Amino acid sequence: MSVTISEQPLAEPSQPKVNLLGLTRAELEAFFVELGEKKFRSQQIMKWVHHFGVDNFDDMKNVGKALKEKLNARAEISAPEVSHFSESKDGTRKWVVKLDSKNSVETVFIPDGNRGTLCVSSQVGCALDCSFCSTGKQGFQRDLTVAEIVAQVWIAHRSFGTPENKGVRHITNVVMMGMGEPLLNFENVINAMELMKDDLGYGIAKKRLTLSTSGVVPKMYELYDRIDVALAVSLHAPNDQLRNELVPINKKYPLSELMKACHAYVDQSSDKRRVTIEYVLLEGVNDNFEQAYELIELLRTLPCKINLIPFNPFPHNPYKKPNGMRVRAFQEVLQKAGFVSPIRTTRGDDIDAACGQLVGLVQDKTKRSERWQAKIETQTVKVRPAQ
Ligand code: SAH
Ligand code: SF4
Repeated sequence: MSVTISEQPLAEPSQPKVNLLGLTRAELEAFFVELGEKKFRSQQIMKWVHHFGVDNFDDMKNVGKALKEKLNARAEISAPEVSHFSESKDGTRKWVVKLDSKNSVETVFIPDGNRGTLCVSSQVGCALDCSFCSTGKQGFQRDLTVAEIVAQVWIAHRSFGTPENKGVRHITNVVMMGMGEPLLNFENVINAMELMKDDLGYGIAKKRLTLSTSGVVPKMYELYDRIDVALAVSLHAPNDQLRNELVPINKKYPLSELMKACHAYVDQSSDKRRVTIEYVLLEGVNDNFEQAYELIELLRTLPCKINLIPFNPFPHNPYKKPNGMRVRAFQEVLQKAGFVSPIRTTRGDDIDAACGQLVGLVQDKTKRSERWQAKIETQTVKVRPAQ
């Protein structure tokens, strides 16, 4: 079988070095064959890179001198710089990862009992411009490479002190829910998730690796063909009229098509799979009883759970977070109809660890947030009154 390395060509001594953080197992094997080495030797290297978090070939104790020399000449293990790190009182950790002189993304780790969830970014900014999302307000800058996506897991994994803590598993779950729309950086996200699932990578179980999408329908079908992971869909509205306003991609792929794609996901899975529906509650916009009943109707036949996420406010935005009573009342309607619908509370408040916040404060190159502010001031943004 011939494998091509999609992201970067095999480096000759005069060429840029191949970054091993961005190579899947098959690609690394192909690279080893290219080096004149046995394929299986690449497994040793994968363990050093991903399990032990080593960034230097000379530290790989059981690797022979000749191979180390070849690797030093042709390859590197290169992660972007961490420009900011903070840890909250509740154990939430946040990294601002500086990709280049102009672009940064965020990665957040959220511990919860035995579970540790890492929230990973796939793009700098986002082109889809959902009205309540600070990442969307930054506009789209660029896609992350496979190495940049995987590096977020590598950085977080290393922060727990590998290899000293061998056996203690801190990152049990990964969600592609950081900055960006993962299905619009398709190939790189698939390859990165493959490495996250790989036992020689990060060994994340398929049910614990979740891709979240705002509903790029054709790419959802392609995803099912390519990789088996859990699916989350950012719904936020029970009808097209409101969803067109909140999640503009709905104008291209309306709810009827999105629902079909969700059913297809459940149908094609061999085990009893559910879709996670994400519903950000915006006071007076999508949180009244009538909308809860409409949501029940829409999701009645879909095996799913509904995560209710009270809106996380950020500057220059017209929306409000509903109070706890309102959120619970909405939840109760869904629960009475038989839906599992947990309320996802914000974690790491003291370090601004919610979606897109810190980078949002320092980065707005398209001036989209200024335009947004102007829009609010001229009151062209529709916000329904609280009821
Ligand atoms: N683009 C993908 C994944 C990144 S967004 C998607 O939209 O699904 C991850 C989640 O954070 C989405 O469900 C998104 O709707 C939610 N989100 C965005 N801005 C938010 C905010 N201000 N408050 C609460 N949740 C937000
Ligand atoms: Fe993009 Fe997701 Fe934010 Fe929408 S919610 S703008 S799709 S990152």
